[in-house]
Amino acid sequence: MNQICTLSPIHKSIANGIVHVYNHPHHGYCMGHLGENLRVNHHCGDYLHLYYNATKAYSLEEFDNHFVEFKSKYPAAAVILEYDIGFEKWSSAHFPVNRYDVMTTNIVESRNAMLIDEMEYPMASIFNSIAKGFGELFRERHAYILKSMGNQMVPSTKKIARKEMIEGDSLYVENVTGDDNQFTVFGAGVTAHVDLREKSCSCREYDLIKIPCAHAMAALRSKHGNEYDSINVVPLESEWCVPEELLNVKILPPLVDTKLGRKQRKRVKGVMRISKAREGTNVQFAREQDTREPHVWTTTNLN
Ligand SMILES: [Zn+2]
Repeated sequence: MNQICTLSPIHKSIANGIVHVYNHPHHGYCMGHLGENLRVNHHCGDYLHLYYNATKAYSLEEFDNHFVEFKSKYPAAAVILEYDIGFEKWSSAHFPVNRYDVMTTNIVESRNAMLIDEMEYPMASIFNSIAKGFGELFRERHAYILKSMGNQMVPSTKKIARKEMIEGDSLYVENVTGDDNQFTVFGAGVTAHVDLREKSCSCREYDLIKIPCAHAMAALRSKHGNEYDSINVVPLESEWCVPEELLNVKILPPLVDTKLGRKQRKRVKGVMRISKAREGTNVQFAREQDTREPHVWTTTNLN
């Protein structure tokens, strides 16, 4: 349970609700929502990249450099980020558990956008639409997986691993201690220490997102030669070691005071919703003007 974390927009009620149901996992804020809040409410638009650099930094030293620069531009906003919200809510370097960094699409908003019309239907029809929609998505996913059998990573992870591998190819590796799991990696003015057994690197990227960083890739290349191309990041399910007490845990839905009747809401019909461009995959949504048929498609940002 302590390896799980939840991320949400910056509404206090969401954080309070999550704590009420799941009191163990650490809760953090979505860096995109927080960034928008800084831009709109605190007018940080001109130097917002300093905030994003700080959120994405893996080492504390790198975080401090970016945050000090942000603070010099926007002292009032920096006080809110540091004291009102807290670094551990939005900074990867200060996050107390694994933030992973692979969540690049907003799944809930994508599903909400697909159900704009159905939300007006009776509850049973909404569930039928959801079941049909998911059935269709799983059918497509299944066909895609069958086509690419043998892949050991999901596409977004594979893309990151490939990038790190290419970067790692230009690094110089030394095995100073003689232990075949510990390496010192030199390159671009930075010296990093990698421990393959602990899945750790002094740059902290490997520790935080659990995908080997460029230094770890260089170390793996040194250890395994050209065979390191087929490294399995996630072990096979048959090798998982799940504690007995977790196997028997039954998670019940929260006790809520359900109000009768449908909630009144305003809606805008036929709006195309496009997620903000960011690293990874963007989900876009639109409806046919005549048939109201939903269309969802994804685009991949290769930068
Ligand atoms: Zn590293």
